[in-house]
Amino acid sequence: MPDIIQLLPDAVANQIAAGEVIQRPASVIKELVENSVDAGSTHIEVIVKDAGKTLIQVIDNGKGMSETDARLSFERHATSKIKSADDLFSIHSMGFRGEALASIAAIAYVELKTRRNEDSLGTKIEVQGSKVVMQESCQCNEGTSFSVKNLFYNVPARRKFLKADPVEFRHIIEEFQRIALSYPEVAFSLHHNNTEVFHFSKENIKQRIVSIMGGNYAQRMVPIEEKTTIIDVLGFIGKPEYAKKTRGEQYFFVNKRFFRHPYFQHAVQSAYEALIPQNEFASYFLYFTIDPKAIDINIHPTKTEIKFEDEKHIYAIIRSAVRQALGKHNLTPTLDFEREQTFDVSFSADKPIVAPTIKVNPDFNPFKTNTEKNTYANPNTIWPKIDTHNKENWQKLYEGHESEKQVSTETSPFGETKINQPLQTVISSDWDKEQQAGDEKVISQLHLKFILSPVKSGIMLIHQQYAHERILYERFRYALQSNKGASQRQLFPQTVEFNYTDADLIKELNTEIAALGFEIREFGKNSFIVDGLPADISASDPQQLLCGIIESYKNNLSVLKIDKREALAQTMAQYGSIKPGTKLNNEEMRSLIDQLFACETPYYTAGGKPTLSMMSMDDLEKRFISTNKR
Ligand code: ADP
Ligand code: MG
Repeated sequence: MPDIIQLLPDAVANQIAAGEVIQRPASVIKELVENSVDAGSTHIEVIVKDAGKTLIQVIDNGKGMSETDARLSFERHATSKIKSADDLFSIHSMGFRGEALASIAAIAYVELKTRRNEDSLGTKIEVQGSKVVMQESCQCNEGTSFSVKNLFYNVPARRKFLKADPVEFRHIIEEFQRIALSYPEVAFSLHHNNTEVFHFSKENIKQRIVSIMGGNYAQRMVPIEEKTTIIDVLGFIGKPEYAKKTRGEQYFFVNKRFFRHPYFQHAVQSAYEALIPQNEFASYFLYFTIDPKAIDINIHPTKTEIKFEDEKHIYAIIRSAVRQALGKHNLTPTLDFEREQTFDVSFSADKPIVAPTIKVNPDFNPFKTNTEKNTYANPNTIWPKIDTHNKENWQKLYEGHESEKQVSTETSPFGETKINQPLQTVISSDWDKEQQAGDEKVISQLHLKFILSPVKSGIMLIHQQYAHERILYERFRYALQSNKGASQRQLFPQTVEFNYTDADLIKELNTEIAALGFEIREFGKNSFIVDGLPADISASDPQQLLCGIIESYKNNLSVLKIDKREALAQTMAQYGSIKPGTKLNNEEMRSLIDQLFACETPYYTAGGKPTLSMMSMDDLEKRFISTNKR
């Protein structure tokens, strides 16, 4: 039998290796821009077409390459950044494996133009599928320009695997932002399909964060600085009141390299403990400087995971640095570091933590002259009328049940009755009949949270927030279907600003947002002018409202995996609903209950939380049965 082992040709080996380094267009940008940074560039331009699928170009003003180096740069394991294995332990550059260019050249058409300062002529090289197809001297600017065309042209399986342009472009932005955040001293620009998406001049860290995240970030962050013998921590952390439901803006950099670290992330999160609700996340931009010998960046081919020698100590340093920064800016009660351990307990014990909420002013309505207060007490005429037809159906159902005794109820260990189908019918029709009879039963608000009302079959307890959530959900769902969201014009149109990704999302949701009743116009790159807000949600601050909605929307979409209209309707309902603590008058409570029963599905919020609970007469009687067995 003949021998069967063969050496793979270089081109094939490179293609296989490319799979590790280059997963998508964003990886190409990461590698090329990192090379430009390593070459000492002060200005780096990125040009992308079709989310990088047809063209990625990176142009820098760095030190350039000699003719020989230019040719060599495409060889596997060709690097100018390390010379021996020892160098691996003191890496100060972004690259060091010498794999990136070889990988890219294996799976795309690459054109390189480069010139060093000392050379009068530069070098132009074209590579296709790892083969140099052209090399010549050329006139070109000092520095280096790489063009990568038709990525994965020879790996159809990979190409097919690429996501739609907006998704791939979002990955590109993510990579681009990470590098831009690491190197504020370098000017960067990004163009996509002939429009300029970003343009950053040379600036400081704070300015760079604001350039990327949006103007309002300046007020949202406090500086952090801690120098220790193990590690220096520098950067900015978000004020607790700006915590978000998604992890979004959380960045760690070590020696100017972005990395992820769940354990350190926990350190930051735990420093915010008791300052923000459990399911919310503060933003942070933390830059660590550490002796390269104390970290290992070699453990992952795409290098976002980094191992630290002294993780436990660093954890403690991060936690205390974050606490100190929060304390210094009076974001926590005065800090006493000797009490650090007991801190959480004493704090949470004497001061209840209130989740940051959007201030909603239910009375706000510049055009309203009558005395009706809450919008839900004033069913806007544009909304579907309360559907009495639905109520009649319930009544019919009720007629089928001769007596309350037939209603099966199930009692939970806490003595409350779980509502089941027949009982639901009873409740709604009970309520209905009493209303029709003009029977003004006493309803009262309990702890500014529940509405308590006697009904024929017992006592009904309504959760005011969840009930309102259900009402709003059905309204917004209707608005999205019919494009008939009622809008409340703003007296003074307001400009709102977002970071690129969120602004993009708002543009993407343009139609839906308009259908909900927002009147929004684009104004400059990532800004919008708000002329009107949905009538059912009267917010005092459109910026906060929109930011909040976008946040919860992202959260709903990713956690619940529902379609975008559904996610929006749920988000708006959660956002706009009256929260516990809101005082309701009699008329408002009645109106709320009426509207709840006019809903298609009154008993649960869209998220599945019960809106009301019933205690039947039987339940009540049972509570007074003598326990003496006589
Ligand atoms: P690595 O960055 O790990 O060294 P790469 O394959 O990314 O490997 O690059 C190979 C080599 O090509 C680099 O070590 C560097 O010497 C040279 N090089 C790549 N890009 C540039 C650039 N933009 N300017 C100058 N030299 C470059
Ligand atoms: Mg490199």
